Amino acid sequence: MKSLRLYGPNDIRLDEVPVPAITEDEILLKTDAAAICGTDVRMWQNGYKGVDEEHPLILGHEFAATIAQVGANVPFYKKGMQVAMAPNIGCGICDKCVRGDFHLCDDYKAFGINMDGAFAEYIKVPGEALTHGNLMTIPEGVSPEEAAVNEPLSCVYNGFLKCDVRPGDFVLVVGSGPIGIMHAQLAKMAGAAKVMMNDLSEERLAESAAIVDGMLTYHGGDLAGYVLKETGGKGLDVAVVACPAPQVQAAMLPLMNYGGRVIFFGGVPAGKQPVAIDTNIIHYKELFITGSTRANICHFRKTLGFIAEGLVDVKGLVTARFRIEDILEAFDCARQAKGLKNVIVF
Ligand SMILES: [Zn+2]
Ligand SMILES: [Zn+2]
Repeated sequence: MKSLRLYGPNDIRLDEVPVPAITEDEILLKTDAAAICGTDVRMWQNGYKGVDEEHPLILGHEFAATIAQVGANVPFYKKGMQVAMAPNIGCGICDKCVRGDFHLCDDYKAFGINMDGAFAEYIKVPGEALTHGNLMTIPEGVSPEEAAVNEPLSCVYNGFLKCDVRPGDFVLVVGSGPIGIMHAQLAKMAGAAKVMMNDLSEERLAESAAIVDGMLTYHGGDLAGYVLKETGGKGLDVAVVACPAPQVQAAMLPLMNYGGRVIFFGGVPAGKQPVAIDTNIIHYKELFITGSTRANICHFRKTLGFIAEGLVDVKGLVTARFRIEDILEAFDCARQAKGLKNVIVF
């Protein structure tokens, strides 16, 4: 089968490899759609621990598939079922796993991160992913592309829940990629009075505004003045930082209303830490500062339901489709931030 493998920094190759063999506790999936994510691009550029010439890794953690083969001991799942995958598999034993937060497990494994992923014609699913509930059937009417893009939506939903967006809130999202758009979509859904988006790129803002109905955008040099004007002088109830910039994180605090919630959704590169923030603003304005990373299986199932019920439209996020034969071209597009979601369809 064809597969895209990472060998080290700036080294990905389209390889021909054998279709994985499964044991009686495992499942073999035939991939239908797999989306490229910023994480894939970063792994390509930086390499990843444990991955080298002798230990290549098939990338891809946002995917949907059809069950091709089922081990004799596997319950419930049948050949031919269309399925989506919450890609983070926990140990199942630690406190975080026991409360359902497999994505925070210290020993977590994830497709396309530290085990073979979805940029391949077939994917082997280990037994623990099946018994933990990572694999789920796709609701009727949801396409494989939408189910693949549900993975980042589930991560956004995890962050969204921590910001407690309420009806009438003023919300600002900084960063106009697919993640920023999804944050804006969920804030709208929760009844925000205004959803504003800020980014340096006017072009990307226009692309995002075309997807999120009624969203305001700003790319000028006076974000504070803009926020004051749009919020009637009150400031923001919720700020989402969906870009890896320390100065943006620090710049959010003075923009907040009393009791405002700030989420640092994107990580900042280690070399740019620590970030200096004015903690007195947190104190005097009683702000809540939080962060989130990845998503658990409950988040994933919930957002798959949002898509099925038509509450969130992720179709517009898929701006280009490629065959696996052309995946290197797709990665180039993703690296240049061309379009929103580049999806490999099989
Ligand atoms: Zn991703
Ligand atoms: Zn665990």
